[in-house]
Amino acid sequence: MLLPASPAAIRRAAAALRRGEPVAFPTETVYGLGASALDPEAVRKVFAAKGRPDDNPLIVHVTGLPMLRGLVRSLPPAARALAERFWPGPLTLVLPKTRAVPGVVTAGLPTVAVRVPDHPVALALIEAAAVPVAAPSANRSGRPSPTRAAHVAADFPGLLVLDGGAARHGLESTVVSLGDPPRVLRLGAISVEELRAVLPGLVVATKTRARAESPGMRHRHYAPARPLVLFRRSRAAALREALAADPKALLLCADADAPLFPGRRPVRLGATPAEIAHGLFDALRTERRGSVLLVYALPRRGLLRAVMDRLERAATRVV
Ligand code: AMP
Ligand code: MG
Repeated sequence: MLLPASPAAIRRAAAALRRGEPVAFPTETVYGLGASALDPEAVRKVFAAKGRPDDNPLIVHVTGLPMLRGLVRSLPPAARALAERFWPGPLTLVLPKTRAVPGVVTAGLPTVAVRVPDHPVALALIEAAAVPVAAPSANRSGRPSPTRAAHVAADFPGLLVLDGGAARHGLESTVVSLGDPPRVLRLGAISVEELRAVLPGLVVATKTRARAESPGMRHRHYAPARPLVLFRRSRAAALREALAADPKALLLCADADAPLFPGRRPVRLGATPAEIAHGLFDALRTERRGSVLLVYALPRRGLLRAVMDRLERAATRVV
């Protein structure tokens, strides 16, 4: 059930959370499927509804540092510096958890992932429920993340969804673990360059390391309904051949790259990195008549590095 996110609807959703019922709500990254992080039964309902593997931990959403006390054992200086600069915002910090956080939330890990969302509806909901809210993206496991309330309703008919319009970033949060050195476990809406301005020693975990430390990174993600073939930027000629061989194939590329593929009308991903990030999941969800999605890779810089990470994980094949 889609409800415009009025104060009355937010109160109703908060009451549902307190009763142990999952609800979906907008954040600035993507829509979340939330449950009280202190209620293991409610959290299990989120895993069950999504079909999410139980080794894939959830992010706990709070309204600010005061709500974090009691959930994490310590806030190292590096974490505090990042929180001061980027919260509320699309940055998730992985910190040692206290016993108050049930094991089901963290998939048995001794750490918990936390963030303060930068969205008035998300903040009002957590405030009204007066509990930290564990919330993965509100999609069936493996599907592209939902950037609009209608995407959530398509995956979960009958679920209470607070409709707050299209998500501003359209890409999930960046996940950082505060070990030595601090490490990006998942690329996301805050770029590595922005984070390094605060923490120059920050490294990006290799795929193998990210998979070991952040179990969710092992699973297949973001898969559209059609096969998706990702062509590297050095393979424009191969992509032109593939297009010529299959008139039903759909081309997806950045606006600036469209002239490389004359005679074919592409699904344009956007002109700026923010626009491309914003439209990506919508483009992957849109049902089209094409046989296969052929995607021309993006330059791996800033925000587009995270977009490429999502495309690689959505791809059935990389050429
Ligand atoms: P999602 O909620 O679908 O955006 O996924 C959240 C992701 O955050 C998970 O798939 C993990 O990769 C990461 N994550 C959550 N909790 C932890 C944790 N305690 N340690 C490491 N990574 C985590
Ligand atoms: Mg997700």
